[in-house]
Amino acid sequence: MESAPRFLCDVMLARLARYLRAAGLDTALAVESATDAEILREAIDEGRWLLTADRKITEHKAAKGHVIQLPFGTLGLQAAALSGQFNIDWLSHAFTRCLMDNTPLQAATEEHALQVPEDARQPVEELLACPNCGRVYWRGSHYKRMRNKLESWQENPVAAVATIEPL
Ligand SMILES: [Zn+2]
Repeated sequence: MESAPRFLCDVMLARLARYLRAAGLDTALAVESATDAEILREAIDEGRWLLTADRKITEHKAAKGHVIQLPFGTLGLQAAALSGQFNIDWLSHAFTRCLMDNTPLQAATEEHALQVPEDARQPVEELLACPNCGRVYWRGSHYKRMRNKLESWQENPVAAVATIEPL
């Protein structure tokens, strides 16, 4: 996914950041204490699009060409806005990154498999683990909920727009 856009979400978009990571997109999350200028600097230095729902950042003099303002509102609305800007593939690389820290996942080891609840335990070859934080990922109900959302965004990227109320 070399040509895929890379993102930096401001703290208000933490939930969206998790879904972008779930789609396998390289997505950083700004630290809470960072100033607008620091967040912009991070985005520019790392070649990321800064995603924000805060118009103030978009008015910053360094913002031009680096910031995308997303609507306040539902995840679906924000996803639709992103699909309108980028040709986002929500599914092809889904569940290849850690939702917590953005690190690409690796195959889990036998040791990792022991952390999975017994009723959810799968063949170890189907489990993935984060080499950074050690979290193990399996296809439980949480996975299915996120997967359903990604599928709906992929199938009909503008559907969410039609159903929203005026802001
Ligand atoms: Zn991790």
